[in-house]
Amino acid sequence: AKAKGRNTFHFYSQELDAAANERLYIENELRIAIKEQQFKLHYQPQVNSESLEVIGYEALIRWYHPEQGFIPPDKFIHIAEATGLIVELGEWVLEEACTFSMQLQGVGKAGSMSINLSARQFKDDRLISTLADVLKRTKMPSHLLHLELTESMLMGDVEAAITQLHEIKKLGVALSIDDFGTGYSSLSYLKRFPVDMLKVDRSFVKDIPEDQNDMEITAAIIAMAQKLQLQVVAEGVETREQVDFLQKNNCYVVQGYFYSPPIAQSDVEAFCDALKQR
Ligand code: C2E
Ligand code: CA
Ligand code: CA
Ligand code: CA
Repeated sequence: AKAKGRNTFHFYSQELDAAANERLYIENELRIAIKEQQFKLHYQPQVNSESLEVIGYEALIRWYHPEQGFIPPDKFIHIAEATGLIVELGEWVLEEACTFSMQLQGVGKAGSMSINLSARQFKDDRLISTLADVLKRTKMPSHLLHLELTESMLMGDVEAAITQLHEIKKLGVALSIDDFGTGYSSLSYLKRFPVDMLKVDRSFVKDIPEDQNDMEITAAIIAMAQKLQLQVVAEGVETREQVDFLQKNNCYVVQGYFYSPPIAQSDVEAFCDALKQR
C-alpha cells in the first residue's frame, strides 16, 4: 500500500510538473513573442442582420509561434494576465486595432472597434493615460472605440470599478459587458455601471432553437437591456434560425460564424463588400 501511495503521489506530482512546466514555457515564450512580434489581430464583424451592414468589429488576438504554430488565446491570455505581461500586450492590441480602424474609416468602412480588456488592464492606474495616448496618436474617434469587460471584473470592488468606468467614459470611449449572463449576478448593479452595451454569451445562443430555457433567458436579457437602454449584441450566432429568433426578439446586431469567423485584416474589406450581395 505504501509503494502504491508513493506511486500515486509520483503520478500526481508528474502531472503537476507538466502543468507547471507548460506554464513556465508559455511565460518565457510570451516574453520572446512580444519582442519578436509573433502576434496578429483577427477581426470578427458585428453585423446588422436586417440591413446586412457591418456595424463594428471585435479584435481577437492570434499567436503564431515559430515552432508550436497557432496558440489559441485561451492557452495564454490567463498566463499573460498572471505575469502582468498582458499590460504590454494589451497596449499593442489597442494601438494595432485603432490603427486598422483608421484605415477602414479611410476607405468608407467605418465601424466600432471592440477590444477585450483583461482584469489586470482594467485595474491598472495607467489605463486612462494609455487610452488617451493611443487615441491621440492614432487619431481614432473615441466613440468608435468599445472596450469589452466581463461581469467578474466589475464585481470585486464595485465602487472602484464604477469610478474607473466613469474615467473611461470621460474619454468618450464606449463600454460593453462581455459574456453577459455567465458571471456573478450583477443585475442589481447593472443600473449603476455606466455601460453602453451587453453581449449575450454564446452559451445561451448556441442551443437555440432546441433549448426552451435558453430561448427564454436570451429573450429576457434582450428585453432587460432595452429597458435599461443598452444596446445588445448576440455572440456565437451560427444559424439562420438563431438570427430569426433574435430578430423576433428585437436583437439585430449579431456576431458569429453564421456571418463570419474572425478574419485577417487583409480580408475585412472584401467581406464587407460580399455581405451586401447576400
Ligand atoms: P471572447 O471575447 O468571448 O471572444 C469570442 C470567442 O468566440 C472568440 O474566440 C471567437 O473566435 C469565438 N467565436 C466567435 N463566433 C463564434 C461562433 O459562432 N461559434 C463559436 N463556437 N465560437 C465563436 P477566441 O478568438 O479563441 O478568443 C477566446 C477568448 O480569448 C476571448 O473570448 C477573449 O476572452 C480572449 N481574448 C482574445 N483576444 C484577446 C485580447 O486581445 N485581449 C484579451 N484580454 N483577451 C482576448
Ligand atoms: Ca469579447
Ligand atoms: Ca464574449
Ligand atoms: Ca468568452
